[in-house]
Amino acid sequence: MLLVLLIMLALLLLLFFYLRNEVEKKKLIFVGTRGLDNALTAEVERYGTYGVWLRLEGALTLPEGKSIDRLSLEGQKAYETKEEAKDYSRFRTAFSFPIEAREDKETLFFTTADEINAGVSMEALPGNGDYVLALKAKFSDGESAFYTLTDAGECLPISYYTLTFEGENSHLSLGFDEEETVPYLSLLGEPDTLPAEVYDIVLDAGHGGRDTGAVAEGLTEAELTLSYAKEVKALLEEEGYKVFLTRDGSEDKDADLAFAMYDEDGRVNTACRSRAKLALSIHFNSLEEASVSGTEVYCSALGNTDTAALLADSIVSRTGASYSTKKSQRRRDGVYSRTYTSEELPAGGGTELRNENTDYYFMIRELGGIWTHAYVDGSSEKYGENLFRNDNAGLESCLLEIGYLSNPEERQRLVGDREAYARAIAEGVVLWHTTFLDKQDTVVIK
Ligand SMILES: [Zn+2]
Repeated sequence: MLLVLLIMLALLLLLFFYLRNEVEKKKLIFVGTRGLDNALTAEVERYGTYGVWLRLEGALTLPEGKSIDRLSLEGQKAYETKEEAKDYSRFRTAFSFPIEAREDKETLFFTTADEINAGVSMEALPGNGDYVLALKAKFSDGESAFYTLTDAGECLPISYYTLTFEGENSHLSLGFDEEETVPYLSLLGEPDTLPAEVYDIVLDAGHGGRDTGAVAEGLTEAELTLSYAKEVKALLEEEGYKVFLTRDGSEDKDADLAFAMYDEDGRVNTACRSRAKLALSIHFNSLEEASVSGTEVYCSALGNTDTAALLADSIVSRTGASYSTKKSQRRRDGVYSRTYTSEELPAGGGTELRNENTDYYFMIRELGGIWTHAYVDGSSEKYGENLFRNDNAGLESCLLEIGYLSNPEERQRLVGDREAYARAIAEGVVLWHTTFLDKQDTVVIK
């Protein structure tokens, strides 16, 4: 009898503590997520960065009978104390970016941008402070709702260093978290200096070692790309950028760089390891037909031509060079995207990662990680392994065929006016960076 009573007492005590906990939970203030406690949840399938661009892809469920008018990514400053949070009952937008959305019945698929180099620039996010990110959906009936973000794809966290500007950088960390039962995506910005292994820009002097590239009148493409890379590096360093060279000429003359590109210390892995935002691979063209000339800048077929166009236009307008006359694969004057042709793919049209939309040039494809469908897996005996092929932090990469060594007139200019060409490339990079400095995509709401 006594035993039964004791057991009942124990059960009552358990029930009491359970209920007390429940009540206490409801009283808790969401220090970081105040105003989101009644929010809906959106699932992020993939997230990461490509160059300076933040990429978020996922889906959310629309409330019954609602359709979308506008979707945006919004940031609220996280409150540091419960007292501070108490004064605010709703999400207070500090910054806002438009997000692309595609409605399919009750499901809304969203992405920061369809083109991999567009949308939300990491350079435009606040570089100092603690923020909570959420999606704001404005429905066609005028009502709106917040969606907190949860990780549905086991995404890698984002650790991003902004491009050096006036000797300064910020370190931005994005990660999924949960406060009580509210999941959210947090952004922490801190002024910081670049760690030794992190760079702003990669310059890749094409070819090298035993691989001479094109040869004309005793001049090798490998020598010329290296002298260009060194010249551009010096100019960018004068502007304050930290520049990584994939080779500096100290490599063995007999080194098999063409096949060692995927080795651990090869140009793919060292460029990816630099965590730079932009990589330029420098090359010179050659054809049997000597009359062809002009500048060609290649970029990923999955992105827009903005960065490549800045570089091509800068070279043409500042050196007197002309846009290439080559018509195939051209996307606009001087800008090209080269993907695999059906003849270059295995019979049957290829695979998910390697198909007619896959970038052909490895320095464009492999440096972009998951965003450009990097795929080299060591299956070829000739190649090592791209250790960064599954990375969500890709580099935006362009391949510059600056001019044709096979055209005697152009060859003379490429050698004689090297400094002017190098200056034009460096100025293209500075122009590219300045497009992010005014942060015009950010809508700051006071
Ligand atoms: Zn080349």
